[in-house]
Amino acid sequence: MRKPLARDVLAGTRKEERQTADDRQTADDRLTIQRAYQYAYRILQTAQVENAAQMAHLLIRGLLNLEGSAFARLYTEDVPLLPRWSLTYALKQLQQGMPFHYVLGESDFMGLRLKVGPGVLIPRIETEGLVEGILKRTGEVTHRVLDIGTGSGAIALALAVKRPLWRVVAIEKSPVAALYAKTNMRMHGVTRRVHLIVGDALTVLADRLQGAADRAVRAPEKMFHVIVSNPPYIARDALAFLPPSVQKEPRLALDGGKDGLFLYQKLVPLFRQWLMPGGLVALEIGYDQGETVPRILRTYGFQDVMLVRDVFGQPRYVYASLTSS
Ligand code: GLN
Repeated sequence: MRKPLARDVLAGTRKEERQTADDRQTADDRLTIQRAYQYAYRILQTAQVENAAQMAHLLIRGLLNLEGSAFARLYTEDVPLLPRWSLTYALKQLQQGMPFHYVLGESDFMGLRLKVGPGVLIPRIETEGLVEGILKRTGEVTHRVLDIGTGSGAIALALAVKRPLWRVVAIEKSPVAALYAKTNMRMHGVTRRVHLIVGDALTVLADRLQGAADRAVRAPEKMFHVIVSNPPYIARDALAFLPPSVQKEPRLALDGGKDGLFLYQKLVPLFRQWLMPGGLVALEIGYDQGETVPRILRTYGFQDVMLVRDVFGQPRYVYASLTSS
């Protein structure tokens, strides 16, 4: 066999080198903000995504982690910033109907950044109103709060951040969602004041009542000043009619049983056992549950039952208190 000539060997090496350099270039192919925006806009518009322009803007801001006005400032600068592959991948997921915040991997709740992804409900703007309603009805003093079905931890976290003296117990059934909640608590430095329990709230609350079922003899430090919940409240038959992107969110967070009221019916009697005298119950409800949920609360002896509408004018929150047992 002919020995390879040094020239050939060298040429081969050079070719390999060149190839590696090309690969590197592909992996590191970056777009300027303007090019990325125009590309994303075109793809989203062609895919008939609503608000394509705004979506493209938010997507690129999110992918690059740009705060405030940085997008506008960098838009005209000729600096390649965004890896092409990350934009292509994100756009493909959006085209496949993946919720926008799952693609970004984060969402915003009351000005707090939260990690979200498949397996956890994306916090809704309506739910901010529930937190505001609680803040309005309570003072700065120390409180113990119970958040049932915390999901990403949005409510528990917002309350802990806004009320530095409060302690929160948050219960979540889905281990995936609970992991997001834990991450979010850590991100905002409230792990010491928010205790997360992974389990089914109905079981957790019922179990812990064993041996202390008589409310009158329960240790007050085990009870709560505020009980809040945004339980799944969509009637099962209505699930199929939810927008496709909502259908990619966990069913556990949406499915409220046959009539959407399953959790309220199970939870409200338990609230009686866990709420301090004079405490506050705060519930998010479906737009058509403005009569049924207050009725359940009254049936179990709750007072001052109040229905409040959300920013879109829909009945959305029910507040109630319990002054005597
Ligand atoms: N608000 C959610 C929606 O828009 C429902 C969340 C829930 O069931 N608690 O679908």
